[in-house]
Amino acid sequence: MGGATLLKETGPREVFCGLTSIVWLHRRMPDAFFLVVGSRTCAHLIQSAAGVMIFAEPRFGTAILEERDLAGLADAHDELDRVVKDLLARRPEIRTLFLVGSCPSEVIKIDLARVAERLNGVLKGNVRVLNYSGSGIETTFTQGEDGALKALVPLMPNSEESQLLLVGTLANPVEDRLINLFRRLGIENIKSFPPRQSTDLPTIGSGTKVLLTQPYLTDTARVLKDRGAEIIKAPFPLGVEGSRLWMEAAANAFSINKSLVDSILNPLVLRSRKALAPYKELLSGKRLFLLPESQLEIPLARFLHHECGMELVEVGVPYLNRDLMQPELELLPHETLVVEGQHVEKQLDRVREKNPDLVVCGMGLANPLEAEGISTKWSIELVFSPIHGIDQAADLAELFSRPLHRRNLLTQKTLVQV
Ligand code: SF4
Repeated sequence: MGGATLLKETGPREVFCGLTSIVWLHRRMPDAFFLVVGSRTCAHLIQSAAGVMIFAEPRFGTAILEERDLAGLADAHDELDRVVKDLLARRPEIRTLFLVGSCPSEVIKIDLARVAERLNGVLKGNVRVLNYSGSGIETTFTQGEDGALKALVPLMPNSEESQLLLVGTLANPVEDRLINLFRRLGIENIKSFPPRQSTDLPTIGSGTKVLLTQPYLTDTARVLKDRGAEIIKAPFPLGVEGSRLWMEAAANAFSINKSLVDSILNPLVLRSRKALAPYKELLSGKRLFLLPESQLEIPLARFLHHECGMELVEVGVPYLNRDLMQPELELLPHETLVVEGQHVEKQLDRVREKNPDLVVCGMGLANPLEAEGISTKWSIELVFSPIHGIDQAADLAELFSRPLHRRNLLTQKTLVQV
């Protein structure tokens, strides 16, 4: 497949769990509430990842199971019922309640699907209760979004109407720009999933063509396909090249005339290439090592190699969906080493041995690597930054230039002091 060499690795992992994605999902759907059924560790993660939110009555909560709940499941169910009742009394605007599972063994024992079913019966449709897992045993941080969206799919109404469905959370202004471009291309009926209100779910059926905006939505794509939708195969909209191919794939699916596509996209491409040039100068020839965390690694590697001139030492990815990722893998340079899964110690040994100029990794690994003199970029920053689309390419490159620029300054300072 393509030019990549694919390997698998298993062992100890060092990644954020799927609870993390609640941070961007709750921003996207303000009428939804994410109730984490977890321990104090989960509460700590969600509160520190979401920063200020906890002080302003967060839209997600944690039902913390105290020691006494461990003795019997009946207590845990009662506790959950009590928390949900209190919550809904306090927050009548909540329309969709996600019960989010976590990894403590006492939580794993609770059948959250059954709890959701029971609560749906009690609430009689006033609030829809869904469940998915954000457990660190089963998910890495972006997979939380996959779980939440998959849980919403059964609620989507059926319709055979022709439409383009953009699937995956994007920053609203970025999404607006992309929708505007698709409209200019002549695609009129465009919907987004997740929607901006949890109750405003798009329809789904055989007239739906799905364009994934994010590469980590394997399960969601599968269940949308089961509902009759066609999944458009394309690279992901990162960088000028990926974004253009992504838009062209949608245009092809709707039989849009190529000259119209060129007339709309060419000026954007030209402008973005120009904006990219200064970053390319800094990044070109630098050696890049991506540790697995977000599933954005392959599209990022493709962008940083093709459009910024970086050399790819190793591309780690927590999970590789070969089918969805095929158009990306084909664009990677010959024999790029793509490693699926993680054995964090072996991977860190390889980082030290190869001594790359930049490592993309989780926050937990960044500090020790920086202390060893290796520049890093947190992969989590990439899911919180507006990086999608042709005109965001320079901003995306800038994120990777920043740590190298900082190290250059530090080196110069050290030289001056010597
Ligand atoms: Fe930690 Fe698991 Fe809770 Fe995530 S779900 S914060 S990995 S205990």
